[in-house]
Amino acid sequence: MTLQLPRKAARLISFFKTHRYECYVVGGYVRDSLLNQNANHRGMDFTTNATPEQIQQLFPDSEYTNRFGTVIIPLSKAFEKLKLAADEFEPHDFFEVTTYRSESSYTDNRHPDTITWGTRLEDDLSRRDFTINALASDGEQIIDLYNGLDDIKSKVIRTVGNPKERFSEDALRIMRAIRFATQLSFSIEPATLEALTAHAQLLALISSERIRDELLKILASNNASQGVLLMKDTGVLNYVLPELYPTWGSEQKSPKRHHIYDVGTHLIKALEACTNPDPIVRLACLLHDVGKPKTRVVQPDGVVTFYNHELVSTEIAFDIGKRLHFSKRDLIKLTKLVRYHQFTVDEHQTDSAIRRVIRNVGKEYIYDLLDLRVADRIGSGSTPDSWRLQLFKKRIEEVQQQPFSVRDLKIRGNDVMEALHIPSGPQVGTLLETLFKEVSEQKLENTREALLNRLTQLPHTAQ
Ligand code: ATP
Ligand code: MG
Repeated sequence: MTLQLPRKAARLISFFKTHRYECYVVGGYVRDSLLNQNANHRGMDFTTNATPEQIQQLFPDSEYTNRFGTVIIPLSKAFEKLKLAADEFEPHDFFEVTTYRSESSYTDNRHPDTITWGTRLEDDLSRRDFTINALASDGEQIIDLYNGLDDIKSKVIRTVGNPKERFSEDALRIMRAIRFATQLSFSIEPATLEALTAHAQLLALISSERIRDELLKILASNNASQGVLLMKDTGVLNYVLPELYPTWGSEQKSPKRHHIYDVGTHLIKALEACTNPDPIVRLACLLHDVGKPKTRVVQPDGVVTFYNHELVSTEIAFDIGKRLHFSKRDLIKLTKLVRYHQFTVDEHQTDSAIRRVIRNVGKEYIYDLLDLRVADRIGSGSTPDSWRLQLFKKRIEEVQQQPFSVRDLKIRGNDVMEALHIPSGPQVGTLLETLFKEVSEQKLENTREALLNRLTQLPHTAQ
């Protein structure tokens, strides 16, 4: 069996071969090409018996910064040497070339104690995580020492070698197994699944950043909800989002209420219904009601209430975002979406009520909030109510045509001072306020020309 490599990759491999080194494409690119998935041509991974120093001798413009033996070759600096035309690669395209590695023991369940450069491809492939990731190709043949081709065919995730040992060496592989199963819609082979479940607690030793990155990839994939259920069933979720466990079995059915699912089932269904590809918006779908179990009260008449659950959910989402070291921006986005998910969608609301929603959640997240609302409704078994949402969207757009605050006016304090020849001082603010009021009342257009023109008619004290 052969694999047709892009010409640029074939050129790199033959360049190494001319210099008497071995070189193969390995890992994700080979896997995804065989799966006919959109294999990412950018950042293709190669492996070679040349040491980092030897690779750098071949490519003096390459970059070598880490201790894992990976040399980055920017194609913009190597294309002449590889006899590639300028249109055969993208401006920021690069190759990652890693020296064969053979690893020793892993005493901390995270990192190998020592890394030694290997001399044989077999050593390098044996330390890779899953059979489907341990395929290599030089364009002529596919090297398949662990039946990765069969596993691709039967859609199976299986560790290379003994799964218990492989997960104890590096517990991140537990997350990676679930991530690949989710991304590719593969099943996890029984012994691998059993070992992964048995070793889930080792994830406590893995940094939150690495766990976060895998979680976000799971959430961004097509089968995100399946991935979360897999984490739930294997106990992995205890080390990723333990806060979700109490939501399963937290019943919402009650007289006078429309809920049909328990909270956890509803959250999974909301995630499944989320059409927004952004993993943070998807996480907001998954967490928007996470505070419900803590606020659940059964009234004497049997009605179940969850007062202020959005506030408790926001606190929990905030703690999760902090624990997973989210960027400040992602943390704000996540918590705002959860905090305001209860907003009223009614196209007949007053301008100021709609402005308040936009101001609360922030202009940049308002459409994400609408996506969350649709997912929430579908996840409750209701219709998405699309006509009402369409009208509400229209209102949001209309309302945003008008400025929200003095800062949205098309002129600034400097313009006022220049136009009226007045110094800076409280007068400038007062004049801007007057203009803003007239624009909000739609008595004045928010254009530079109209504003400057109106300014000259307003009472002011010259210098
Ligand atoms: P993608 O980049 O699409 O997520 P990938 O397979 O390229 O998938 P990377 O994380 O980029 O995944 O890793 C490249 C290759 O390195 C993998 O295919 C696998 O062979 C190996 N690898 C990565 N992480 C590990 C690990 N923790 N343990 C063993 N091998 C690993
Ligand atoms: Mg990769």
